[in-house]
Amino acid sequence: MHRTKTKIENIGMVVNNSISLKSNKELAFMKEAGAIVADVMQTVVSKIDPGVTTKELDVIASKEISASGAKPAFLGYLGFPACFCISVNDEIVHGIPSDRKLSEGDIVSIDGGVIVNGYYSDHAVTVPVGKVTKELDKLIFDTRNSLYKGIEMCKENNMIGDIGNAIESYIMPKKYGLVREYVGHGIGRNLHEGPQIPNYGKKGTGIKLNNGMVVAIEPMINIGGEKTVLSDDGWTVKTADGSQSAHFEHTVAITEEGPIILTENGEKNG
Ligand code: MG
Repeated sequence: MHRTKTKIENIGMVVNNSISLKSNKELAFMKEAGAIVADVMQTVVSKIDPGVTTKELDVIASKEISASGAKPAFLGYLGFPACFCISVNDEIVHGIPSDRKLSEGDIVSIDGGVIVNGYYSDHAVTVPVGKVTKELDKLIFDTRNSLYKGIEMCKENNMIGDIGNAIESYIMPKKYGLVREYVGHGIGRNLHEGPQIPNYGKKGTGIKLNNGMVVAIEPMINIGGEKTVLSDDGWTVKTADGSQSAHFEHTVAITEEGPIILTENGEKNG
């Protein structure tokens, strides 16, 4: 989940814009929060099938988070009414779980986070429901890859623009719409901290990356154009042209050893 102050002031994002460097002790809590959400995500993904409602998936997430001893990061955040955001087909992000049944051929994006000892994680994957078109399989594949292109840039002395540039340079030749109105973010004691991390940018520009920073990188890629619209529910962001959209996100620590993906549990979800 990510809402930004500068990009979408109309829906009132709360961001602590300061950038914090995490101690090893803080990183340990964030690793735990990351591992828990990765496990919960794996369970939720395993339950995706035609006929399952998005609300049913959220109930599974809620139970799994409770069982882990962590707290859901999104429930109640600015009034969000569920544990996870679940967005289907042309919904890009922030879909509210509902009685909508998934159908064969849909793609579904699941975005969630948890809190451990006051520290947050944030993670998203997009998965096919049953068999989907080759075009949608490729959208999912390319969006996931673009996230890893961005993660490779998460090294001390690189700049924020290097992350966005890596994602943009990978995606644009493939003729997708790259969502620019929603961005990644720093994360720690707050779900959203500075710096903002656009999925586009120029090499060597923006804020310098330092060891101890933890960032959530989250490309959102559309089959069609890049324009978005906000639904009447005040949350669900959709593509303006009705084309399908994919979203992947990892929480990543920048360390002396290079980038460490905190929201991975050995399995690649999706
Ligand atoms: Mg996020």
